[in-house]
Amino acid sequence: MASRVIPVEVFDLVIFGGTGDLARRKILPGLYLRWLAGQIPAEARIIGAARGELDDQGFRDFVAASIEEFVARDRKDKAAIKGFLERLHYVAIDVTGEKGWKDLKALGREGAVQAFYFSVAPALFGAIAERLRSYEIAGAEARIVVEKPFGRDLASARALNATLAQHFEEGQIYRIDHYLGKETVQNLMAVRFANILFEPLWKSEYIDHVQITVAETVGVEGRGAYYDKSGAMRDMVQNHIMQLLCLIAMEPPYHFDPDAVRDEKLKVIRALDPVKPEDIVRGQYLAGAGEGSYLEHSGNKDSRTESYIALKVHISNWRWKGTPFYLRTGKRLRARESEIAITFREPPHSIFDDHSGWRENVLVIRLQPDEGMNLKVMIKEPGPGGMRLTQVPLDMSFAEALANTMEDVPDAYERLIMDVIRGNQTLFMRGDEVEAAWAWTDPIIQGWEARGDRPQGYDPGTSGPEDALMLMHRDGRRWRGIGQ
Ligand code: NAD
Repeated sequence: MASRVIPVEVFDLVIFGGTGDLARRKILPGLYLRWLAGQIPAEARIIGAARGELDDQGFRDFVAASIEEFVARDRKDKAAIKGFLERLHYVAIDVTGEKGWKDLKALGREGAVQAFYFSVAPALFGAIAERLRSYEIAGAEARIVVEKPFGRDLASARALNATLAQHFEEGQIYRIDHYLGKETVQNLMAVRFANILFEPLWKSEYIDHVQITVAETVGVEGRGAYYDKSGAMRDMVQNHIMQLLCLIAMEPPYHFDPDAVRDEKLKVIRALDPVKPEDIVRGQYLAGAGEGSYLEHSGNKDSRTESYIALKVHISNWRWKGTPFYLRTGKRLRARESEIAITFREPPHSIFDDHSGWRENVLVIRLQPDEGMNLKVMIKEPGPGGMRLTQVPLDMSFAEALANTMEDVPDAYERLIMDVIRGNQTLFMRGDEVEAAWAWTDPIIQGWEARGDRPQGYDPGTSGPEDALMLMHRDGRRWRGIGQ
C-alpha cells in the first residue's frame, strides 16, 4: 500500500530541555523518523534550548548519538540523518534567568508554525511561559507542549493550569499523555464508533466487567527517590489508565473533534464513584531474582508508597450502572503487558446441553507488546462427538494484518508531536479533564494516608499481591493472566 504521509506545515519547534533524557530517548529520535517518512518539510527547524554550553554542532552531535542509540538499524539512513541534523539549532539558555532569551528571539521568523516543548521539570513551566511572553517570542498562534506529571494533586494541577493560563489560551496548550498517541488506543475509538457491531452491546446489560492492566517488569531502581513521592496511583492511574477508561466508557461524541471528544471523556471522569477502601489493594515488590526490594530501591526503609495498585471502580451513569471496571498496574510483575479486556455477559439462555467448554465472549485490546485486538467467540469443536463447544480467538494482530502499512506507523510521541504542528488537540488532555481526574484521585490517596495503610509485599515476577486476586474472586470473577 502506498505511503499516505501528509507533510505538515513549515514549523519551528523549540525543545526546552533538549539535552534531557526524554528528548534524547523519545522526542529527537521520533522527529528524525518523521523526517525519514517525509512528513517534515525541509524548511522546518528544531531548536534545542537547555542549560548545557553547546553550539549548533555540539547539539547535532548529541542528536546524532541519540539516533544511533534509539533508532532501529533498518531505519538509519545516512543521507536522511545528515538532512535531519541540518534542521537542528541550539540555544544555551537559563529558563529561570535572562541568559539566552535574546538569542532565542533572534531566531524568530515569520510564516512558520511556532511550537515550544516544555521537556523540563514542571516547576520550570511558569518561568518559561512568562519569558516566552515578556521577550515577545511566542506569537498569538504559538503552541506549547507540556509533559507529565501535571500536578501531584488537585491543588498543584490547578496552580499549574492557572500559571499557564496567564500566558496562553487553552487552545494553545498541549498536555501530553503518550498513551493517547498509541495506535491501538485510537483504534478503540474506531472499533466503537465506526462499526455497528459493538456499540449496541456496549453497556452494562451486555458487559459483565472490564479489566485494564498495565504491567511492567522493571522496578524503580535508578529513579526510586523520585518515584517514592509519586506511586502507582499518581504515576499511572490518574493519567494513563484514566484516559483508557474514558475511551472505553465515554458516550459517542457528535464528531471526532477535540472538544467533542474531550467533553465526553470529562463526563466519564465526573461520573466516577469514590472508591471504597475495601476495593483498593496496594503493594510493594519484595526482593528476589537477584534484585533489591522496593524499600531498598526507593532508599526509604519506611516507605508507604505503592509500586502496585488494583482498584475496583464504578461509573455512576445509565450506561455503566452495575458493570465494574477493575484497574491494576504495577512494577516488577511477571511480564510487560498492557491490555484492556471487555468481558461480555453469558447468553441469557443456553440451548446446548454441554456447558463444559462454555466461556464468556471477551474483547481484548492489546497495547503492548504486539498491538492488536482479539475477540474470543464460542464455536463448535470440529469433528465428531456431538455438539461440543469451544472458545477460539478471532485474532487481529495489526502487525500481521496491516504488514505493509505498519512499517511507517509512527510511535506515540511521533504522532503527538505532528498533531501539535497540525494544531489538533484531540489526543491531548484538556485542563478541566486533568483537574477532574485529580479531584477523583485526591480523596482516595488521602483516605489511605489517613488510615495509615501499608502496601502488601509481593514477590517479583508474579502478578501482584494476594489480596488483588481476592478483589475479583469475591465477586466471582478472575483477573486475566499476565504474560500467558
Ligand atoms: P532531564 O533531567 O533528563 O533533563 C532536563 C533538561 O532540562 C536538560 O536538558 C536540562 O539542561 C534542562 N534544564 C534544567 N534546568 C534548566 C534551566 N534552568 N534552564 C534551561 N534548561 C534547564 O529530564 P527528563 O527526564 O528529560 O524529563 C523532562 C520532563 O519530562 C520532566 O517534566 C519529566 O517529568 C517528563 N517526563 C520524562 C520522561 C522520561 O522518560 N524521561 C517520561 C515522561 C515524562
